[in-house]
Amino acid sequence: MKKVKGFPALHIYKENIYENAKCVVELCGKHGIGVSGVIKGVNGLQIVTEKFIQAGCTQIASSRMEQLIDTKKHGYMIDTMLLRIPMKSELNDLVKHVDVSLNSESETIELIEKACAKIGKSHKVILMLDLGDLREGFFHAEELMDLAMHIENDLEFVKLGGVGTNLGCYGSVKPTVENLGALCIVAKNIEDRIGRKLEYVSGGATSTLPLVVSGEVPEGINNLRIGEAILLNMDMPELWEVHIEGLNQDTFLLEAQIIEIKKKPSYPVGELFIDAWGNKPTYEDRGVRTRALLAIGKQDFVMHDKLIPLDGGVEIIGSSSDHLIIDIENSSVGYKVGDTMKFKMFYGPMLHLCSSEWVRKTY
Ligand SMILES: *Cc1c(COP(=O)(O)O)cnc(C)c1O
Repeated sequence: MKKVKGFPALHIYKENIYENAKCVVELCGKHGIGVSGVIKGVNGLQIVTEKFIQAGCTQIASSRMEQLIDTKKHGYMIDTMLLRIPMKSELNDLVKHVDVSLNSESETIELIEKACAKIGKSHKVILMLDLGDLREGFFHAEELMDLAMHIENDLEFVKLGGVGTNLGCYGSVKPTVENLGALCIVAKNIEDRIGRKLEYVSGGATSTLPLVVSGEVPEGINNLRIGEAILLNMDMPELWEVHIEGLNQDTFLLEAQIIEIKKKPSYPVGELFIDAWGNKPTYEDRGVRTRALLAIGKQDFVMHDKLIPLDGGVEIIGSSSDHLIIDIENSSVGYKVGDTMKFKMFYGPMLHLCSSEWVRKTY
């Protein structure tokens, strides 16, 4: 990591992340649900992993193998879970460093068996059922069940850990009593056939929490993989209008410095063509307004519309790769060049800011 001095800075409030993790773990615990703490949104920051473990998460989960390898390297004695279907090219690392992975390809599972045999280690798999969101998983439950029986009966090192699903990612499909109920039926069928309980019936991510809060989550679901609600708690209150008691939003704050303040027209001057991204944006003419230019840009946060200024009197109007433009006309704060501005954020900017080596992190 490069040593960035000053700004932009990302302030990470680790005790508040701990409080959120504890709250989610307790809420889910009341319904017999264990929480896999998902660290991919923070680029696997070790301090977050530590707080997740202290709060009682049952696994540390990520889509990125390297972050799970780091978790083991730092000596944490917790199970790791790979969330993205493993690549054929990462199976040796998978069986060495990861305890459980989400899977949907029988061919890959045969190769995991071989990789396990080489080092004499077992590996648990969760078979994914696609309930309509159309990202990963078996679309036909019978295929999933056939593979489950094959793993249970014929494989020595690959263990059938359970079944799972993912919703609300590609297809924006809501988790419901009906679709999660279907997962539970598949789980029950498998359990009847293998004569034991499945360790994992994994019913999704943050977007399943509303069902937990309302007490409607189908019986049988015993695991959720949670990142956003713990790390930011923005989606539930702001997008789902679900307020979970005990969760706070004071976890990540972005601070950037003002490098220019000027009064300018709000409509560009000259013949309009394309912006720096090849797009043809539209501009509203609001007359001459006071604007601040901040030293941070798309390279750092990618989506300026997912940042929320703490000063409610300002308005983000645009960004380029290294600049953020803010209308400060109506703000009661007397900004000067050199002052900083602070922002809350949704998941996208957090993901990028955490992985950027050009953003200073403070804890
Ligand atoms: C990212 C991810 C999660 C966590 O999602 P959040 O919305 O951050 O809770 C869970 N499961 C899978 C498969 C994922 O890729």
